[in-house]
Amino acid sequence: MTLKPQDFKHVNYLWDDNTVSQLDDVERLRYRSNILGADQRITNTGGGNTSSKSRMTDPLSGAEVDVLWVKGSGGDLRTSTRANFASLYMDKFLSLENIYNKAEIRGAKTEIEDAMVDMYRHTTFGLNPAASSIDTPLHGLIPFRHIDHMHPISVIAIAASKDQERLTQAVFEEEVGWVPWQRPGFDLGLVMKEKLKQDPGLKGLVMGQHGLINWADDDKTCYELTLTLIEKAARYIEGHHQGEKTFGGQKYQSLDENTRNEILVKLLPVLRGKVSQTNRFIGTVHVTESVLLFVNSMDAPRLAEIGTSCPDHFLRTKIKPLYVDWNPQKESYEVLIEKLEKGLVAYRADYTAYYEACKHSDSPAMRDPNPTVVLIPGLGLIAWGRNKSESRVTAEFYSLAIEVMRASEAISEYQGLPRQEAFDIEYWLLEEAKLKRMPPEKEFARNVVVVIGAGSGIGKATAHRVAKEGAHVVCADLSEEAAQATAKELVEMYGVGIGVAGTGISGCGPAIGLSVDITRRESVRAMFENIILAYGGIDNIIITAGIFVSPDKAGRIPDDKWALTYAINATGPYLVADEAKTIWQAQGLRTSLVITTSANAAVAKQGSFAYDTSKAAANHLVRELAIELSPLVRVNGLAPATVVEGSSMFPRDRVISSLTKYNIPFDESESTESLRDKLAIYYAQRTLTKSPITLADQAEVAYLLSSSKFSKTTGQIISVDGGLHEAFLR
Ligand SMILES: [Zn+2]
Repeated sequence: MTLKPQDFKHVNYLWDDNTVSQLDDVERLRYRSNILGADQRITNTGGGNTSSKSRMTDPLSGAEVDVLWVKGSGGDLRTSTRANFASLYMDKFLSLENIYNKAEIRGAKTEIEDAMVDMYRHTTFGLNPAASSIDTPLHGLIPFRHIDHMHPISVIAIAASKDQERLTQAVFEEEVGWVPWQRPGFDLGLVMKEKLKQDPGLKGLVMGQHGLINWADDDKTCYELTLTLIEKAARYIEGHHQGEKTFGGQKYQSLDENTRNEILVKLLPVLRGKVSQTNRFIGTVHVTESVLLFVNSMDAPRLAEIGTSCPDHFLRTKIKPLYVDWNPQKESYEVLIEKLEKGLVAYRADYTAYYEACKHSDSPAMRDPNPTVVLIPGLGLIAWGRNKSESRVTAEFYSLAIEVMRASEAISEYQGLPRQEAFDIEYWLLEEAKLKRMPPEKEFARNVVVVIGAGSGIGKATAHRVAKEGAHVVCADLSEEAAQATAKELVEMYGVGIGVAGTGISGCGPAIGLSVDITRRESVRAMFENIILAYGGIDNIIITAGIFVSPDKAGRIPDDKWALTYAINATGPYLVADEAKTIWQAQGLRTSLVITTSANAAVAKQGSFAYDTSKAAANHLVRELAIELSPLVRVNGLAPATVVEGSSMFPRDRVISSLTKYNIPFDESESTESLRDKLAIYYAQRTLTKSPITLADQAEVAYLLSSSKFSKTTGQIISVDGGLHEAFLR
């Protein structure tokens, strides 16, 4: 069966001859990989690999040699660039077979197999630093020029069915063969090579419990073959669609969006706290028609227990999800929490038992026994990962697993990977070595840091500072536009990551921008609800929002401006802390709050009554909150003075009024920046350190006070004012 581009219904045909004609061999491979990875029905994030064998000039001998270009370790097809492909001399790679065959004990999971991975480096062409993956032999040992190895939903559905060999034959006839599950490595490459030798007409193989591999001597033909095989499998599955009987029929109904979000906002911090006892996690809420169809179904408990099938799925999703059998129509929220708690205890015990039953004498120590996927009828799927990108990947993988189970149950009976095989991948020493090579996590990795006032000045500088420490940053500001501009800068700087999942705001990247008016409790609450839906909870909060209203020439402030000054500078931080308190207590995780006060809080002077007294109230609020929120939350104050640089607190009229007050000569025609500089120099001269105070100085201390470096400090006000002796606290 040869399909034309317009015939594909279950995959996107994206090949464009015009684009390809401009590209060299390696770029053609990159292009093919990107368009394959762009369709989740073809392969999952990070899953699968592609290769091309290309004639190239050897830089040493000048001779034409065959070079294997193959997606390297850790890359992702959709987002791959040229740098993600390893390159190996074909002749050198093939010589490795002799080394392998010399080993006395050979086969899957033997010592020699793991040792081969280090050998690939000896065959590198062109000083390419990209590391070869464990799938390299699948591409090197099959003698075709172009090879695609994919994890398509429709083919995994066949590969994860009880009678997978029969189904392979039924769907693909003589075109595609079948190999039983075997952990990827050199031996699997040899198994495939042998299979092809016995049956030279084969165009590909279904890999048991794993995916699809197929080949051709022309790259476009290989691409079209990949799509055709996936389309064929999908059409076969479509012919067996079960309609209302899917997953044994529906047991529960979904909740409407408002009710669902109301429950999630209460539930997520509780759940985050419970799964984060060993390591903090960032959440992703994923609610699609297909996810709901599964979680509400009769068969969900049975299928969830079997776990995911594709080996690179369950490294993220864990061996199985936690399914909470809660009746969204009949049972209360309290019952949900009760069932969740019981479920978590049982899950951890199960995981420990699985580890104990499957471990080898040299296995790495048991990892975090908490689930990374939680399924709740009526609500959907909640995934957890060490950062937003990882949690999106986890949600993506389980939602793909749901599709696999739906298809597999329609055509046969779904089966998972044998537990021991799953364990041998999860605790593979090569994987452990990869984990050990990862750089240590940054101070705010796994943390959600809320910066209120992030649209400008100290807040914006602080948002950048904490992002540098690995934080997920919520940039909040009265101006939604300014908040989103800061968030956009951060996302561009750090990248949105991989993983395609997340419903609504939960599909976000490492930073989001939200508007908030801290003088209104309902606005503060709405902000926190959005943060919870986006990330699953909150950690540190840093408030830099504040207001200075310039008095008139007689030093007076109108009554409404007095009230506004207090509302923003004193009541605002209280409302934020009071609303956050419920969430922090639900999570039960140690965290911190930093409130920006001012050196003015301690220095009595003329002309800034409202500002100075409101900041004095904020200073004492820090102390009161430190007591109120202990032991969970440390509360400290940051007292800046006279940060004139880029500050919204120093609008032109305030700068002019200050210059006038201090008798500093200036010209009305000068730019605001030039006037600010004059004022900054004047202020610096009044300090003990004689240095102007910058936004970065403030951001550094806001970060430090929030960090573990100040884990024993609470209820304190730290001045960052260059040294103003009249502001010394005593
Ligand atoms: Zn694979």
